[in-house]
Amino acid sequence: MLELQKDIQFLKGVGPKRAELLNKELNIFTAKDLLYHFPFRYIDRTKFYKVSEITEDLPNIQAKGIISNFQTKGGGRKTYLTAEFSDGTASVELIWFKGAKWIKENLTSGKEYIIFGKPARYGRKINIAHPEIDKPEDFNKKISSSLQAVYPSTEKLTKKNVNSKVFRKIIGGIIENLTGKLPETLPAYIVQKYRLLSFHEAILNIHFPENSETLKRALYRLKFEELFYIQLNILKLKFGRRLKYKGFVFSKVGDYFNKFYREKLPFELTNAQKRVIKEIRQDFASGKQANRLLQGDVGSGKTLVALMLMLIAIDNGYQASLMAPTEILAQQHFKTIFDFLEGTGLEIALLTGSTKTAERRILHENLHIGKINILIGTHALIEDTVIFKNLGIVVIDEQHRFGVAQRAKMWNKNIQPPHVIVMTATPIPRTLAMTVYGDLEISVIDELPPGRKPVKTIHSYDGKRLRVFKFIKEQIKAGRQVYIVYPLIYESENFDYKDLEDGLESISRAFPPPEYAVSVLHGRMKPEEKEKSMQLFVKGITQIMIATTVIEVGVDVPNASVMIIESAERFGLSQLHQLRGRVGRGADQSYCILMTSYKLSKEAKTRIQTMVESNDGFKIAEVDMKLRGPGDTEGTRQSGIPFELKLSDLSKDYKILETARNAAESILTDDPELKEDKNQILVRQLKSLILRNKKWGMIS
Ligand code: ADP
Ligand code: MG
Repeated sequence: MLELQKDIQFLKGVGPKRAELLNKELNIFTAKDLLYHFPFRYIDRTKFYKVSEITEDLPNIQAKGIISNFQTKGGGRKTYLTAEFSDGTASVELIWFKGAKWIKENLTSGKEYIIFGKPARYGRKINIAHPEIDKPEDFNKKISSSLQAVYPSTEKLTKKNVNSKVFRKIIGGIIENLTGKLPETLPAYIVQKYRLLSFHEAILNIHFPENSETLKRALYRLKFEELFYIQLNILKLKFGRRLKYKGFVFSKVGDYFNKFYREKLPFELTNAQKRVIKEIRQDFASGKQANRLLQGDVGSGKTLVALMLMLIAIDNGYQASLMAPTEILAQQHFKTIFDFLEGTGLEIALLTGSTKTAERRILHENLHIGKINILIGTHALIEDTVIFKNLGIVVIDEQHRFGVAQRAKMWNKNIQPPHVIVMTATPIPRTLAMTVYGDLEISVIDELPPGRKPVKTIHSYDGKRLRVFKFIKEQIKAGRQVYIVYPLIYESENFDYKDLEDGLESISRAFPPPEYAVSVLHGRMKPEEKEKSMQLFVKGITQIMIATTVIEVGVDVPNASVMIIESAERFGLSQLHQLRGRVGRGADQSYCILMTSYKLSKEAKTRIQTMVESNDGFKIAEVDMKLRGPGDTEGTRQSGIPFELKLSDLSKDYKILETARNAAESILTDDPELKEDKNQILVRQLKSLILRNKKWGMIS
């Protein structure tokens, strides 16, 4: 049996130079790594094109014809070789920039060959540079599979001629030298239960597919495995936590909750809010620690749900805490909750990075003796010096800025961990939630409070700014307020985007005092300045708020009805959606105007179009994931995605993910610590995956 750990430099067709290149470029060190270097597409080599059908838009094509008329052209270092390729329907030119000697010695002018390559247009002529060439008699022997693998590569590898053909040769060599089957990587009972191809068959077929049906099954098996281990890893954490910890039982709904519900709550809860509260109350009563993700679109009323959950904790004799990702948002939460709970006698405190030392000392003390009922803050809450008397629930208004590791820190605030509710501001697709937040249960608020008019979104161009100004004036006249958001604070040499400084100047000119007043808010301002500026806008003293994306999260000014986003092409989809969520909070019709330059990339067009067409955060999140891939969506970029997917695509492989998750879940239900013999293969496999993938270790 060929040693799978064998250093690739000793493999046929590799050698020290290529080995070094593969190490550096693709992280490939062993024969096994090569077997895991999967093709990203396949070429159908049963298809032959007529030469007359060849156009420059086609990917690699294959054709049979006569090669003739070799000519050496150019001169000096720029010498190259051309030939004519014709099948009677038309002719194209073949070009070699190097290796002319070999070509001339090995090909015979006037003979028939099969060529394979990428057509390009040069002037009026179609040519194919460096085609693969086979004699017809060799062709049938060589092409054992009609589907030929194409491998991902890098510029450097391509330069050194390490192309798909080379990969096929090297990997084919490894497979030929196998004396037995590749060891299975899933328990036999799982392979059977889900009718999977064996690992051996799957690897063989992904590199050299027998036919398209088997290729499909090979892909399924390998994707299943990829997703399965991610799920097993994250669910193991969840099951482990369940074994290790009990949860506080909040058995009753008491006076604080009831009084708030009857006397303070100014509106009826939406059905979705009611359902979610019910789901979480079941967690509270179960004796298990609640670990839940609360998803809901901007403005769906998550904060209010959080508040009511905290009241239940207080009713049962516990403290509650709410953690926000930014100072502004923490302050906003503090104010909202403070106002809601006025007159209840509950003690609410705010702790952020800018809380003064003296104040902090008193706060710590009061928290420790249980005088504070609700503590709201930023990640300052995580610090070890922050000690609760009996923390019963933590709500993390995550907005994707806290990672799994930080979440875990909040659990350590008690010997017995509090219930944990994570709220995301930007909805994330279900598949992504199941993986990134796979250790959590999920609740969704899929309904907005009644009476909200959907925000009207309009795409406008820089050249039409005057019309937009006119519109702003009308809105202000009607008593409304306006946000104008810029991607940059100052002018930048690197980007041709609008900046706040410049914008402030032109807005001040177009909207002069005393008729108009303008607030400014950006990240470089001191906290006091920010607060002052915000307050002027909240109170309606200023009508226009000029800001960077610092206003992206949480800010709630119901009277603001226009959101203008400058250089909107610069922003990601969920960021645009989040910004738009700042308006549409009151009863008036609200507007979001996306200003862009005339020149837009295809992707930017899709983003703008999606915004114009949809107000649904979940739909927008799906598009975002399709455009950028799961690792790069707004929802995961900051905290990082704790895995890397080689084969699966979370925007398409939902079914496989669900099956894999169910499989992992049922295994852990029977054997939560994976102690049974039949599951030892899982333990080994997980261990080696964690070794290879540092980010996995972060979770468990
Ligand atoms: P989210 O945090 O999900 O973005 P918020 O909790 O900030 O949403 O709620 C947005 C606004 O809607 C707030 O002004 C809040 O008071 C209000 N709100 C929440 N729930 C309801 C409801 N059921 N009916 C009417 N208004 C509501
Ligand atoms: Mg909110």
